[in-house]
Amino acid sequence: MRWICKDDIEGCLTAAWRTRAAQAKQKLITATTDKQRKAILKKASSSKIWRDFYKLLPDNLKKKCWYCEAEDIRSDMPVDHFRPKNKVENEDNHDGYWWLAFDWENYRCACTYCNSLRAFDETVGGKACKFPITASSQRAFTSADSLILETPNFLDPFNPDDEKILWFDNDGKPIHKPSANAQEVIKVKNSIDIFHLHEIKIVRARNNIRIEVERLIQKIRNNIDVQDAKVSLRKMVRDSEKLSRAAIVYIRPHRDLAEVKEILELD
Ligand SMILES: [Zn+2]
Repeated sequence: MRWICKDDIEGCLTAAWRTRAAQAKQKLITATTDKQRKAILKKASSSKIWRDFYKLLPDNLKKKCWYCEAEDIRSDMPVDHFRPKNKVENEDNHDGYWWLAFDWENYRCACTYCNSLRAFDETVGGKACKFPITASSQRAFTSADSLILETPNFLDPFNPDDEKILWFDNDGKPIHKPSANAQEVIKVKNSIDIFHLHEIKIVRARNNIRIEVERLIQKIRNNIDVQDAKVSLRKMVRDSEKLSRAAIVYIRPHRDLAEVKEILELD
């Protein structure tokens, strides 16, 4: 998962977009029935607002999925509503966080593997309308309810503490960081299912990152093309690069090397 600084996103939004979003939100708030609200959310003009949000972001903020870090975003509408707008899984009486449908702070750029439920022979995953929280009694049901008390029980790209909890084993499979506490273990476990992080193609892609890291590290250890190897590793850990979190995890064990310390900015 990638950490996304909310300020960077806010800085990309235009006054015209913010006005359109605010007007659309006002229509939702003044609608009197759930049926009317659902009709507004289904309008092409509504989906255009979150599609246009995506268009406003520069490539370095959207070329990879914020959840799984895959670079190939395979979707016509690659914006996930972090708090689902239509319904919430395992909350039968919840109409969804519809009042956040036009709120950019509820948007996350996501590939379809993360965003939609998919079932394969070996794995099932995808966010769909899942939004587990740590204490169900704190769940917000209306626009008047506070969101501050709701703590998502899975990883959020906007949370600066979450990115580093996710780790990967030497097969490319997602795991929690070695020093994770009990709460972090649950968050990672939920996130693996919600974002389908154990799906075979992305596991293989992470494993290929590990193999490439090992190849480059060996070059440094054997004093062969050291500068080229350093440049390649430095590129792999940039947060705009695909699967850069996996690259960091696989480079870390080699921090006995001065070059690695430098790349990871360790003292
Ligand atoms: Zn994804």
